[in-house]
Amino acid sequence: MNARLAAAVAAGRAAGLGSRLLGRGGGTALPGLVAERVDPAIVAHLGRQLGGGRVLVTGTNGKTTTSRIVAEILREAGRPFIHNREGSNLMRGLASTLLFEARPTGAIPRARRTTGLFEVDEATCPAAARALAPGVFAFTNLFRDQLDRYGEVDTVAALWREALAAAPKDATIVLNADDPSVAELAEGWSGPVHWFGLDDAAFATEYAGAFDARWCRECGGNFAYDRRYFAHVGWWRCTGCDRRRAATQTTGSALRLGLDEATFEVEGIGALRMPLTGTYNVYNALAAICVARVLGLPPEAIAAGLAKVRPAFGRQEVAELEGRHIRLLLTKNPAGANQVLRLLEQLAGGAQGTLKVAVLLNDRFADGQDVSWTWDVDYELAAGEVGSCWVGGDRAEDMALRLKYAGWPAPGAVVHEPAALLDAIVAGTAPGDEVFVVPTYTAMLDLRAELVRRGAVGRFWERGE
Ligand SMILES: [Zn+2]
Repeated sequence: MNARLAAAVAAGRAAGLGSRLLGRGGGTALPGLVAERVDPAIVAHLGRQLGGGRVLVTGTNGKTTTSRIVAEILREAGRPFIHNREGSNLMRGLASTLLFEARPTGAIPRARRTTGLFEVDEATCPAAARALAPGVFAFTNLFRDQLDRYGEVDTVAALWREALAAAPKDATIVLNADDPSVAELAEGWSGPVHWFGLDDAAFATEYAGAFDARWCRECGGNFAYDRRYFAHVGWWRCTGCDRRRAATQTTGSALRLGLDEATFEVEGIGALRMPLTGTYNVYNALAAICVARVLGLPPEAIAAGLAKVRPAFGRQEVAELEGRHIRLLLTKNPAGANQVLRLLEQLAGGAQGTLKVAVLLNDRFADGQDVSWTWDVDYELAAGEVGSCWVGGDRAEDMALRLKYAGWPAPGAVVHEPAALLDAIVAGTAPGDEVFVVPTYTAMLDLRAELVRRGAVGRFWERGE
């Protein structure tokens, strides 16, 4: 028994109990923070006991959804696993997750058979890789985040290379072949690589909107696209050298997107259905399928797990308000917003002026305090499809201006209060209508609270289930 580890576990658990008694719900970081003070290597000491595979999942967008899908597949396969909750993806969050699984001695029950599934923040990857020595390391995508967070895609790419340098040399890395910024992680990696990607010409876009233009790391050349699905993601090749999208072991095809679900096919597994929609969620599913395959989980568990996954908090929730279906599509950064707009365009199926959309912009800390990122979002993509719109949030006027430039119709309301926004939406729609709400994070929380206050019968998923 490691006395320091046991003391750290005890201190962390006590802090967890204390914060719960004080009513600070959701303070998942505090126990880990306290425990790390006692044993700075607590994540390594607890995490490395897990012998059923240690998996790290990271990426700008989709890491929460991807790891939730892997969790469902593990459950279907009957494999014991430990999974950190959304929002606890820094080292202290990993420590919190692990210490509540440990006995007072610091030993994790059934550790040898248990899989560790960890969603990890981009910047936490090097520390997590050093501590956990992962056997599987999955990268979903690399987009520019909010302007005031990491600043540069290259900073994140450098952190990821540092993480790979710290990872075991025989780890399998799971990479998105369609994202050249992720694909370049294979350069210099001597261990196994499992590639995933999408093969569906119908979902290629001709639209040349703003996207995170990157240059080839090898030669500085530009990327050209035989197919571009969204942003810089697609069938790319370098115009200056022979680098190009790799052949994929896990390939999604025959994609069909519905309002609440997507279906697609993966060779070796067959037709799959999941209650999540959007091309970006199909990518998340493909990443999860890769991880499951590397872990040796059977195709039946993969299909069953996908069918059971539920949307993460605010990602794809539906509330019923006076007969209207209010669909929340949280956007946390320009790339996420672009993916949502592309989804709206796809759901409209070419019908002009049919969509009913509310866009909510806040500029509090969790939203990103610099709202100029809205100018990097291609609201133009859905301009023709939008028939009615409403604008809300603390910075509603800025958003209204942006949408005016994007060619959207004049909004039915430009208001700050969620109550006034919902009143305007109800006034401008009829029972049975589908209304898409595209909020930033805190705007989503405010609107959700107002929906709950009105008793909107919602298929709301509880945070962390
Ligand atoms: Zn090149």
